Amino acid sequence: MEKKQFQAESKRLLEMMINSIYTKKEIFLRELISNASDAIDKIYYKALTDDSLTFDKDQYYIKIIPNKENRTLTVLDTGIGMTKEELGTNLGTIAKSGSLSFKKEHEMKDGFDIIGQFGVGFYAAFMVSDVVTVKSKAFGENQAYEWQSEGTEGYTISPCDKADVGTEVILKLKENTEDDNFDEFLEEWRLKEIVKKYSDFIRYPIKMDVTKH
Ligand code: ADP
Ligand code: MG
Repeated sequence: MEKKQFQAESKRLLEMMINSIYTKKEIFLRELISNASDAIDKIYYKALTDDSLTFDKDQYYIKIIPNKENRTLTVLDTGIGMTKEELGTNLGTIAKSGSLSFKKEHEMKDGFDIIGQFGVGFYAAFMVSDVVTVKSKAFGENQAYEWQSEGTEGYTISPCDKADVGTEVILKLKENTEDDNFDEFLEEWRLKEIVKKYSDFIRYPIKMDVTKH
């Protein structure tokens, strides 16, 4: 399988995310939920103009799935999805967010959580994850694709099975270190806390199966 390189700018941001000690790691979840919500917005607007599509509100949601056995945390959405090409361009390139130049200026100067207050985007996933896998099926496509990366080395894209339109971001959580605990991102109470803190305003349901005690 061919491995593609990240764009130079993307690589720099990625390195910053991986090595960030100034940012609250928990904000990765805010970023993934915000992307999921944007993706649902996109299919919503499509439904407004495309008669073949109806927007049934119950069908559109975000789901957080912690899996302690596999040590993975999945953020799933039923949004518009990404094509093979979009996986490459959207996740391999830092395009829009003027956040990179902002960060270069301010990051070290003011210390602490300055990055955390701004949108840092998808690469925030690498603050808590060694391997990030994105499975996506775009609206109108039959074939789903899987984007996978272990960080700055680049990424691969290959066909995969996925029944429904939308995206699943699967984080293989890092092992705990002396200074950092990543297990907490598998705990229901902790995930609920983060969602409440940063994603309260999201207009779509954010679901999680909860264990009854
Ligand atoms: P931003 O959200 O500021 O554009 P991100 O780094 O968060 O930057 O995301 C980059 C791009 O990747 C998004 O603009 C979007 O096109 C795509 N993307 C990320 N997550 C998803 C998702 N869950 N569904 C569809 N597209 C996504
Ligand atoms: Mg984003």
